[in-house]
This record gives sequence, structure tokens and C-alpha cells, in this order.
Amino acid sequence: MSNTQITRALFDQVMVPNYAPLNMIPVRGQGSLVWDQEDNEYLDLTGGIAVNALGHAHPELVAALTEQAKKLWHVSNIYTNEPALMLAQKLVDYTFAEKVFFANSGAEANEAALKLARRFAFDNACKDKSEIIAFYKGFHGRTFFTVTAGGQATYSDGFGPKPGDITHLEYNDLEALTNAISERTCAVILEPLQGEGGILPIDKVFAQGVRALCDKYNALMIFDEVQTGMGRTGDLFAYMGLGVTPDVLTSAKSLGAGFPIAAMLTLSKFANSLTPGTHGTTFGGNPLACAVANKAFELINTPEMLRGVKDKEVLFRDLLAKINDEFAVFKEIRGAGLLLGAVLNEQYQGRAKDFLLASVEQGLLVLIAGANVIRFAPALNISNEQIKQAMVKFRAAVQAITLMS
Ligand SMILES: *Cc1c(COP(=O)(O)O)cnc(C)c1O
Repeated sequence: MSNTQITRALFDQVMVPNYAPLNMIPVRGQGSLVWDQEDNEYLDLTGGIAVNALGHAHPELVAALTEQAKKLWHVSNIYTNEPALMLAQKLVDYTFAEKVFFANSGAEANEAALKLARRFAFDNACKDKSEIIAFYKGFHGRTFFTVTAGGQATYSDGFGPKPGDITHLEYNDLEALTNAISERTCAVILEPLQGEGGILPIDKVFAQGVRALCDKYNALMIFDEVQTGMGRTGDLFAYMGLGVTPDVLTSAKSLGAGFPIAAMLTLSKFANSLTPGTHGTTFGGNPLACAVANKAFELINTPEMLRGVKDKEVLFRDLLAKINDEFAVFKEIRGAGLLLGAVLNEQYQGRAKDFLLASVEQGLLVLIAGANVIRFAPALNISNEQIKQAMVKFRAAVQAITLMS
């Protein structure tokens, strides 16, 4: 099969139709630039949905990957391996955590977190302590347990009986949580900024209230930092900017900067419930993924990189505000660091996808988060110059839409 036979139409023939990809097929990338099959160039503000934290084909990540590829790819969990131990040590050194479990995806890290919470309650002979509290619009992955914990029933309906004892409440509603939580609650799982749900920031007082209530009822506070983690918000992890420390934290997307890897971080007193045989994964923590993540961690966890994320947020907000002054399309710009959402006003309700498609026409890749929010999650090392170029393209896309309306 030659390259010219590989077209978007082939997707419809041979792929399960659970995605609806755009027509253009990216074939290579460099930093924040991507090229398609026809060699059209695009500025990438998607970062592979907050994954490619250091852009495409970062030379130091390529070197880390190829070096490890020549040595050892996979050994199974009958052995440990050096890259995994080095990465775990870094995560322990720079976060609240004392113990790390590696997985391959955000959903798997959250699956481990929820199972840990249930098992910890079970081990401590807490009868009936199995309730998990989660929040509407939350997103935790697509395994049946995690998608049921997620706050959109449409994603979990239609697959038969769901994992039970999961309660959903309004995000940022401390009174609702105060009323619902009890000795039966074994965990509260939430994002420190709802990503898929629409780039909804957490209320600091709510976050601190969740912490206090979890302490009062001996429930584990699980922070799903799959999207917010690893520098995305300008802190290494978002909890660091909230003055709240969770009991369990999950990380994935940016952790491998494009190579699949995830981690669940926790304290020894909880980790002790996951004794040999209670949980596992074949690929989690393999040497190849961990070698890349070690390098990504070194590159992201510097004061310059994290400071840069906060500075770039200001630049983004300024330029988006100027576009809005001109065209009046957004109700607000919200989010943190380089995870920003432009929320459409009444006039443009439900049309986020139109803005995405108009941006592609201008050679710009953006994301959406629901039908009313245009989401930006570029590489953390995108240059100021590229942000300015991107906003020139985005302005043209916004103009095209307003002219059509
Ligand atoms: C993307 C995401 C997940 C799921 O991660 P996968 O790697 O797709 O399983 C879970 N939680 C949050 C907050 C996410 O943004």
C-alpha cells in the first residue's frame, strides 16, 4: 500500500467509527508546527489535547527514546527497571507523594485510584464504606468504572449495569458536598480544573472545603490531574497553586510529553493496601515510556519553563481580549496557564466546532471543550512569536465566522 492510497476515506472503511477525525491527516511535526499529507503547515494549539507538552519531535525526547530503544523496551513486572525507579524517585521528590504506581493512560491511573480507595476502606474494616463522590461535567476516562465516575451519563449509559455506589454532585458546590458526604464515603474524585467539561476552574474555597470534609469522614481526596498536571497550569501540578494537598493524584497526558504513560501518586499509608496480587498492568512503567517521561520531567520541572507558562497565559489572554474587543464573540476567557477556554456568548451558542473548522482553514489547530468553549492547550514551550502568529490566524477565523453570521 502506497502513501497516496492512505486517505481520510480509508478511516471510514477500516476504523471503528467512535471518532470523527478532521479531513487533513498530519504526517509530521516540529515544535508547535505540524504538516499534513499535502505539506500544508499548521500552528498547533492543541498539543495533542494537552499531551505534547514539549511540542513535536523535541530533540532531547527523541534522543531519550532512541537511546532506551537500543537497550531495553519491556521486561514485565517480574522485574523492576531503572527508568521507572528514576521517574518514581523524581515524582516523590517533587510532590506530596511517597509511592507511585505506573499505568499507560489517564483512565487506568484513575481506575487504580478508585480501586485503591475502595480497597483501603475494605482493609480498614469500614463496613459499607464504598461510596465514591464525583462531580457533574467531570471527566476521568473511558473504562467503565472511570466513565461512570465521570459526570456525563451519556458517556456511560447503554453499556448495561454500571459500577455502583457513585454519587454525582455539582462542582464547586460545597453545601451539596457537606450534605452528601458521610462515613460511607470512601473517596471524593475531582479535577482541580474541569478540562473536558469546559475549562471550568475550581473555586479555591471549595477545594479547601473538599479537603476538610475528606479529613472529617476519612475519605480519600483524589485529584485527577491527568490534564492539569506536569506544568500545564504553570505549577508542576495544579494542587500546588491551590493550597490543598490530595491523598491521591493521577497524572498522564503531559507526563510522557506524547509517549503513553500515566502515574498514580499517593502516600504510603494508602499505598499499603495495594499488596502483590491486588492490582497490576502489563505495560505500565515500561522502560521505554519511563525513559521519555524522565527527560520530559527534567525539561518541564524548571522555574523558567513554569514561569514561562504563566507569562504566556497573560499574552494569550491579552490577544484574545483584543479579538473579543473587535468581534464580541466571547463571554469570558477562563482556565489557567496554557489550558485556556474562550467561552462563546449567547449569540454563538453551540458553535465552538465552527470556530475550530474556521481555524483549520487559516492553518491553525485549536480544540473545543463542549459545544460552547474553544480550548487552547499548546506546547508549554511554544514561543511568544508563535502565540502572536496563532492569534493573527485565530482573529481571521473569528472574522470569517462573524461575517457569515
Ligand atoms: C484525558 C483525561 C482522562 C483520560 O485519559 P486517557 O489517557 O484518555 O485514558 C482522565 N481524566 C482527565 C481529567 C482527562 O483530561
